[in-house]
Amino acid sequence: MAGRRGPGLVGRVVTAFLVAAALSGVCVGEAPRPPACALARGELTVDDLPAGSSVFDCLAVGRVVTHEGAGVAVPEPGTTVSVDALTVDGSAHGFTLTVAADGTVSYAYEAARTQAAARARADAPAPCVDSAYSTEGRKEYDTYEWFIGDGPLPGRLSHAEGRQAFEDAIATITTSRNDCGYDDRVTAKARFLSATGNEAGIDREGRCTRRDGLSVWDAGDIGGEAVATTCSWSRPVPGGPEELLEADVRFNTRGFPFTDRPAGACTHAYDIRSVATHEAGHVFGLGHSGAGHENLTMYANSFACSTDARTLGKGDVLGLRSLY
Ligand SMILES: [Zn+2]
Repeated sequence: MAGRRGPGLVGRVVTAFLVAAALSGVCVGEAPRPPACALARGELTVDDLPAGSSVFDCLAVGRVVTHEGAGVAVPEPGTTVSVDALTVDGSAHGFTLTVAADGTVSYAYEAARTQAAARARADAPAPCVDSAYSTEGRKEYDTYEWFIGDGPLPGRLSHAEGRQAFEDAIATITTSRNDCGYDDRVTAKARFLSATGNEAGIDREGRCTRRDGLSVWDAGDIGGEAVATTCSWSRPVPGGPEELLEADVRFNTRGFPFTDRPAGACTHAYDIRSVATHEAGHVFGLGHSGAGHENLTMYANSFACSTDARTLGKGDVLGLRSLY
């Protein structure tokens, strides 16, 4: 249950126990049940806590599990957590960890590194003819109610400006705003609530921490590679996609410059609304469009100084229609 190292360790523990018992002359009677899962200290990989293992046996809730640089804290039973990072090199960093109500762990991985074959944007289909999309098996069934962190925001926006930029980006998803002529059939809803002292549940290495019940958009240091990261938590719904419980978004202001006005002298800053629209797509259950689909908003890469992702392409709209 604990991967390749587990059985050996358990065996050694049991042997040590029996030897100790024999040496001390204690009658042990029936040997106590050895721990079913002995996890190493520190960070774990998906091999340390393999699919099928139990968070109860392994005392794994709250422990960090990583996969190809992405990481999540193991959530409570009955909860799924997903991490999605928006990178500058097109490499995909995302995975999903589900803990079933009985404590059993399972994973879903993004098709990792398929982005390596990414074409130049000029060679990819135009956004209004590219129907590619993927979904992440969850949706907002009611209204996405979100907060804005009370710390610094990307592009040094004031909180009023930040709220406006994020609200516009989220509305692009909930109204499927596009330049392709598609009408809005998407029923997704969102509502801004207030500023909060709570922070997005994303740490300095871009890993999803424990959820706090508030969906917070903010900025900070999330490690080197990601321009922004979304962490989502959801729970199963019989016969349908999982129900979103919380989705937090953090912009990597430690690693990258942002602007809300990319026209003019922009040389290397990232457009806040383009990035926010992509992240809002994750919030509402869209996955990445994959290599060869560089002109869609849900492509895994972000392009400096480009505002193209502020509106949706065909595949982005079709993905939302498939969920809402
Ligand atoms: Zn993304």
